[in-house]
Amino acid sequence: MKWLSEVKLGIVLLQGVAPNTAMVAGVRRVILTARTKYQEVQIVEFQDFGRGLVLDGYIQSTEADEHIYHESLVQPAMTTHPDPRRALIIGGGEGATLREVLKHRTVKEVIMVDIDGELVDFARKYLDFMHRGSFNDPRAKVVIEDGLKYIRETPSNQFDVVINDLTDPYGPEIGRKLYSVEFYSELKKLMKTDGILATQAGNSFFFPNVYREIVGSLREVFRVVREYWTWIPSFGYACNYLIASDAHDPLQLSVESVNEVLRVRGVSNKYYDGTLHVAMLRNKVVIGWNSQTWG
Ligand code: SAM
Repeated sequence: MKWLSEVKLGIVLLQGVAPNTAMVAGVRRVILTARTKYQEVQIVEFQDFGRGLVLDGYIQSTEADEHIYHESLVQPAMTTHPDPRRALIIGGGEGATLREVLKHRTVKEVIMVDIDGELVDFARKYLDFMHRGSFNDPRAKVVIEDGLKYIRETPSNQFDVVINDLTDPYGPEIGRKLYSVEFYSELKKLMKTDGILATQAGNSFFFPNVYREIVGSLREVFRVVREYWTWIPSFGYACNYLIASDAHDPLQLSVESVNEVLRVRGVSNKYYDGTLHVAMLRNKVVIGWNSQTWG
């Protein structure tokens, strides 16, 4: 093992993983650096992860493993819902979450609400391998708006599935407020009575207090709340996900039933299938010991 001081990495991105831990990612070149109204946006070519999106210094998704993150976020909820026709995405600027929802031929309309229109424009231009043209799908509608404002102005009882693909709950202020009981209570009004919500939830090992708070908030609003996580190499940690609903329970699905839904709906994935669904949902999520709160 060579110590960092002996390794000539050139440009690196030091990605905070926890209050006192960081991952060092070698950078081949920086394709874009821009300050939008909401965040600093970088499109970077990493030595080990290919092209990726970085917001305020945090890796959001990379060519090498974005499919792991996005399929894990979207597919369990979409597959658990018996007939997902109308979906709402909050966040998801790269367009990959939108891509994942549109894979299901039951879907008639997806509304993607992201606060940062400049970021979405950069994604359209530089991240085509992520959105793969999903922004132009006739079923897709992109709304540039704060998710919190959007849900307050939208009629109720609309959506079968809602996916929150936001910046981390301990990340920039713009995303943090969309992990609260108030937000989930408002969001639930937009969902049909058998609607399903899925959200990324940061990392339970390094941010146990924040994670516990999100789980508690969802449990106050929904009858069923299920937890799972999966390793995302370019994040340097396992990303936690939560699924919530009053009507459907992802834990009840079998390997066979998931694979049958994917087959019937014509969904092909690189990572997610029935075996993975059961393994993730039955796997134990580890809550860290670090009682230090960050931010
Ligand atoms: N994969 C990333 C992760 O795991 O942290 C998250 C993906 S995505 C890039 C995060 C998105 O959330 C960004 O496009 C950002 O603009 C959006 N966002 C943050 N706060 C928001 C808000 N209040 N309303 C709508 N979108 C928001």
